[in-house]
Amino acid sequence: MSNLNIDYCDLALAGVRKLQPYQPGKPIDELQRELGLTQIIKLASNENPFGPSANVKQGIINSIDELSRYPDGNGFNLKQALAVKHDVAAQQVTLGNGSNDILELVTRAFVGERDEVIFSQHAFAVYPIVTQAVGAKAVVIPARDWGHDLTVMLAAINENTKLIFIANPNNPTGTWLGEQAICDFLDNVPKNILVVLDEAYFDYARHAAMQAEDYPDGATLLTRYANLLVTRTFSKAYGLAGLRIGYGLSNTMIADVLNRVRQPFNVNLLAQVAARIALDDTIHINYSVEMNARGMQQITTACAELDLNYIPSVANFLCIDMGRPAQDIYTGLLHQGVIVRPVANYEMPNHIRVTIGTQAENQQFLSALKNVLNTI
Ligand SMILES: *Cc1c(COP(=O)(O)O)cnc(C)c1O
Repeated sequence: MSNLNIDYCDLALAGVRKLQPYQPGKPIDELQRELGLTQIIKLASNENPFGPSANVKQGIINSIDELSRYPDGNGFNLKQALAVKHDVAAQQVTLGNGSNDILELVTRAFVGERDEVIFSQHAFAVYPIVTQAVGAKAVVIPARDWGHDLTVMLAAINENTKLIFIANPNNPTGTWLGEQAICDFLDNVPKNILVVLDEAYFDYARHAAMQAEDYPDGATLLTRYANLLVTRTFSKAYGLAGLRIGYGLSNTMIADVLNRVRQPFNVNLLAQVAARIALDDTIHINYSVEMNARGMQQITTACAELDLNYIPSVANFLCIDMGRPAQDIYTGLLHQGVIVRPVANYEMPNHIRVTIGTQAENQQFLSALKNVLNTI
């Protein structure tokens, strides 16, 4: 009997069968192959346009000869440094193969088929994926002004609720919550329900929010809320998306559980070395964050001139409202060599999400956008 008579998809777990794969931003190589363009810029995955620092690159080169060895499975040096940075114990730190790894680990370790996971409409796409993968029920709360509606999220809690995801700021909307709102929420969540506070854009948000309301540092809330898991990443402001490294901060018992389900060597050797160096690269981070603020100004000013609405953002990306289905505009931009992110899969068919790039990249995006809007 031929194996082809078997539908192997049908053998997968129920939650997995219904899963749609995560749609990443289009890689530059792929667009090159498809359209034969040479001058391509990618502003689609919220990467740091200034890349890793010179120190990090040198550190990676210095470690190249160690590649035949397994990495430190416990990430001792990096955990120590993170513990100092956040004023927590090293046992409260969990390292991940990107912070996505932590989001997946916490769901896999704590959430079962009869459980419910709460998150907002328009929230980061990984939350529904990890929820569905374990066969749990996703409770999606309608957004308010594109952001999380914490009051309605609280009201949705019932005896089956196991986990709540909050992205602060949220991707793709760039919306954010102040410290008072977060604390009022956490004060009312029963302590047997875990709350993940996803702070992937922490450094950008901290800088952008300074003039506005207070933007909380989740790490400082850990002593008050034992059910809190804060996630951070080196993929965004630290410029290390390609190496895949992020981490979680929580009480030691939650960290202990995550540590039991993770792969033995989930964070690779170069990632550990690079992250350790990047942590001390204050000048590079400050520069990146400052340039992001200027780039944000550059793009929002141009949007106003073009009469385009956008969702105010404290991150390194902006959702621009095209006032019509944005798919054609996305495709038009591709033909001009500019990759942005369509967000129809986030129930935002009229928006495109653009990552803030270098000043020149932002200019190229804006010129391309004007061309496309003129020809459509
Ligand atoms: C980019 C992003 C992450 C980080 O992903 P990594 O796995 O660390 O690269 C996490 N959460 C949100 C909301 C993001 O946008």
